Amino acid sequence: MTDSKTGYASRPPHPLAEPPESFPYAPSREDPTLAAIAKTHDLWIDGEWRKPRRGRFPTLNPATGEELSRIALAGPADVDRAVRAARRALPAWADLPGVERARRLFAVARILQERSREFAVLETLDNGKPIRESRDVDVPLAAAHFFYYAGWADKLEYALPGGRKPEPRGVCGQIIPWNFPLLMAAWKLAPALACGNTVVLKPAETSSLSALRLVEVLEQAGIPKGVVNVVTGPGEVGAALVRHEGLDKLAFTGSTEVGKTIQAALAGRPVSLTLELGGKGAHIIFEDAPLSQAVEGIVQGIFFNQGQVCCAGSRLFVQEGILDEVMDRLRSRLATLRLGDPLDKNTDLGAIHSLPQWEKIRSYLEIGKEEGAELWQAPAEIPSRGWWCPPSLFSNVTPSMRIAREEIFGPVLAILGFRTPEEALAKANDSLYGLSAGIWTDKGSKIFEMARGLRAGVVWANCYNRFDPASPFGGYKESGFGREGGLHGLLPYLRT
Ligand code: NAP
Ligand code: MG
Repeated sequence: MTDSKTGYASRPPHPLAEPPESFPYAPSREDPTLAAIAKTHDLWIDGEWRKPRRGRFPTLNPATGEELSRIALAGPADVDRAVRAARRALPAWADLPGVERARRLFAVARILQERSREFAVLETLDNGKPIRESRDVDVPLAAAHFFYYAGWADKLEYALPGGRKPEPRGVCGQIIPWNFPLLMAAWKLAPALACGNTVVLKPAETSSLSALRLVEVLEQAGIPKGVVNVVTGPGEVGAALVRHEGLDKLAFTGSTEVGKTIQAALAGRPVSLTLELGGKGAHIIFEDAPLSQAVEGIVQGIFFNQGQVCCAGSRLFVQEGILDEVMDRLRSRLATLRLGDPLDKNTDLGAIHSLPQWEKIRSYLEIGKEEGAELWQAPAEIPSRGWWCPPSLFSNVTPSMRIAREEIFGPVLAILGFRTPEEALAKANDSLYGLSAGIWTDKGSKIFEMARGLRAGVVWANCYNRFDPASPFGGYKESGFGREGGLHGLLPYLRT
């Protein structure tokens, strides 16, 4: 057929190019019941809620220990269904003009912004993090990721050398941890969808609610059925996903230990893999640093999200001339932090995410004392229910101690001294991990020198824990490989 206006052969409209019925999405009312949580949740497969065949398990509010809802336990047959649904949805989604995928991803971002209050409350209830963080960091950054990758969806040929025709990888398994449930889902989904892939997402057992709510947003934004599927349950559900023959790509964020088992399980299979694993970030404070700001940076670096952050600045290196002063300032600052109800907007430290995580942190507090380090904890009234840990500092730490080498994933800072930049660099790099580092100094040349020498995927200068969807994030060594964010985060989702 020829277009009567242009004279060119006209293509029939793509079936998915029609605007979805709900578009443009009408802004939601300020309705507190929107944050209401269903008593039970099913599996999201092929655009439908499917009853699990293996029953359900509870998800808890870490601040009270109370049950919030019952989450579906997916079996291998459910995982298989989800992967097949993703395979069926692939051709139409991949063939959709990039501008149409972009339009839908922009809609996801806008709806997330409109529903930000609801998502912030939900995330705080399920995870235990302070509402100030979920409201000001997690949800806005999740929306920002969808905005950013929506912008790439119709420009993919510029992502590849020589303007080659971009092709998606195919069906992606994505496994995420509990510390930033919504944000990690956004980091994974946005680039995958922008490139035309389809996904089976496996959230962490203890924090599935925001991913299950996010599928409502995807549906509202017109993401077709089967493009994103969510299978919930414990690690064995992730393992079943990894084993599935129908995957083209696997993206994992979680512990180094599980990352290694996944790498071994995929050895020899044609599945492309990216791993975002653990860390033991080095935070380096020089004598010429602006001290008041540096102390705020240290606090932000280790107590953000109760220290349950892969890139947390959990090893603090302070130049010896200011070590005592930094310790004094830190102690008095920490005494002002408020620990308690995560839904209170004045709360600085919320709950530890789960009982096992709390036990792990407590065991490291014991290990540190047995190793001979000196523990100081900020005075805090510990609520009678839920799991909590006050801000904790270890001084008299030596580089060989376990508290200086192993990831604690809690509000626990190991403090060490150094004399020269060379010594700081050597100590900072003496780690199995290589995810993040921070430098505080007044001198630009020192920043460049240190940043060049640090074996860390992210290096912050005179700030810490700042994120932007345009800048790549990821690790060296046992912190994994592959990058998320920016152009680097797009490439793993394209056949190159
Ligand atoms: P995890 O135990 O490794 O779990 C991560 C995810 O993998 C969860 O969904 C988990 O399910 C699943 N899983 C567990 N065993 C599995 C298996 N054998 N096969 C496939 N999937 C499996 O880590 P986590 O304790 O949840 O999270 C904390 C870790 O994540 C820390 O080490 C942290 O540094 C890392 N992290 C890294 C980044 C990064 O970008 N580099 C970001 C955030 C967190 P269940 O939860 O249901 O067991
Ligand atoms: Mg929970």
